[in-house]
Amino acid sequence: MKYEVVIGLEIHLELQTSSKLFCGCSTIFGREPNSNCCPICLGLPGSLPVFNRRAIELAVAAALALNSDVQEKSRFDRKNYFYPDLPKAYQISQYDQPLARGGYLQIEVDCASRIINLERVHLEEEAGKLIHSSESIMGSDYSLVDYNRAGIPLLEIVTAPDITSGREARLFLDDLRSVLLYSGASDCKMEEGSLRCDANISLRPAGSDELGTRAEVKNMNSFRAVELALNYEAGRQEEILAAGGTVIQETCHWDEERKKTIPLRSKEGSSDYRYFPEPDLLPLVLESTFIEEISAALPELPPARRKRLKEQYGLDASEAALFTFNRSLGDFFEAAAARYNQYANLAKWVQGDLLYYLRESGKNVEEVEPQKFVDLLTLLDKGDINRPVAKELLSEIVLSGTSPQKMIRDKGLGRISGDEQLLPIVEKVIAENPDAIENYRQGKEKAMAFLVGRVMALTGGRADPGEANKLLKEKISRK
Ligand SMILES: [Zn+2]
Repeated sequence: MKYEVVIGLEIHLELQTSSKLFCGCSTIFGREPNSNCCPICLGLPGSLPVFNRRAIELAVAAALALNSDVQEKSRFDRKNYFYPDLPKAYQISQYDQPLARGGYLQIEVDCASRIINLERVHLEEEAGKLIHSSESIMGSDYSLVDYNRAGIPLLEIVTAPDITSGREARLFLDDLRSVLLYSGASDCKMEEGSLRCDANISLRPAGSDELGTRAEVKNMNSFRAVELALNYEAGRQEEILAAGGTVIQETCHWDEERKKTIPLRSKEGSSDYRYFPEPDLLPLVLESTFIEEISAALPELPPARRKRLKEQYGLDASEAALFTFNRSLGDFFEAAAARYNQYANLAKWVQGDLLYYLRESGKNVEEVEPQKFVDLLTLLDKGDINRPVAKELLSEIVLSGTSPQKMIRDKGLGRISGDEQLLPIVEKVIAENPDAIENYRQGKEKAMAFLVGRVMALTGGRADPGEANKLLKEKISRK
């Protein structure tokens, strides 16, 4: 039997606020453990939560950027579970009245457009962090807990089971990350845990409408790990089903070293969390003008930008994707394109040599002035410099920001031409290569190519081969 893979993702995103969701504690990453804490985020008796307006603004911005329908009224609930990373033994979250419902993201898979629907977007608070004495909780003598993270605003984004492969999940996450970065809601740093992804995956007979029993996969620390883990898990479930077995509903842990999923525990149903309304918070009521203002302040978002880059500059799909995902590189391209209309050539230089020198020097593209870059390309187009010189100058523009015109003057890198500069070199080549001259006079065209090559070598490639050829011929026939 043929099976199809059904995947839904749950993404947790730390919002980019300077203080926590319900108290004034700092959200700065990497501080000394338990230094960003207060009675509210530690859940001490008598403390009361207060909304952070900025967190709500960012959550609404992210939801709108994902085409999700922001609700004018939503509510907070307590999600009860006992684990040391949760100081109150419950998490303030949203259950049946989330911040936003529905939504979608349009992604490109193999040049075809796909819609991945969202079920909901809701706000909740982050838990603390356990630090085990050895690699994992298994085999550790003790664990330490750091509550610096507890109470940081977290956005949970739940997709519909619309994703059909590990690769598609990865492409979706790439696009999702890009949209969230543009919305300004989060820095989306997976390595610092500000973006995390869990997945539900099940198999069903191809063409069936029913969902199979799913496994939840956790602990995937990169988008690549998501792809690998889901492909592995799909293979594991297919083996079970093909052998006539049944998949059990469980939570698995992706083991990055062994490249396999390891079952952790059987999965709780939502009833196990005993959700009930948070009595310390009023329902969240958002004025429509508040939502409209945030919507109006959103920048052009990645799907729209990608489309516009193709139409406005004639870029191909991979260039448009690069200049969209790498937003600052895209901004640089557009700033340069406003001053230089050879777009194809510009795109080639930006994604090729410029990106190379940026990586090489560890500089950011924001440090490069578009005008100097355009000046360089213009000098090259006019033939004032050649390609090797252009590359050398570009590396220097990236490193020091010196203008190309100044470097050409200071270093004498301009084109060598005319009777004054080029002629003496031509005469030197003629004097040094009597055999080649003789061969040329006897009709061997290859000898001329050799002589031009000598001129180019002596000028470091800075002569125009056509002009060298012309001068050589004049000189040789006059003799
Ligand atoms: Zn606090």
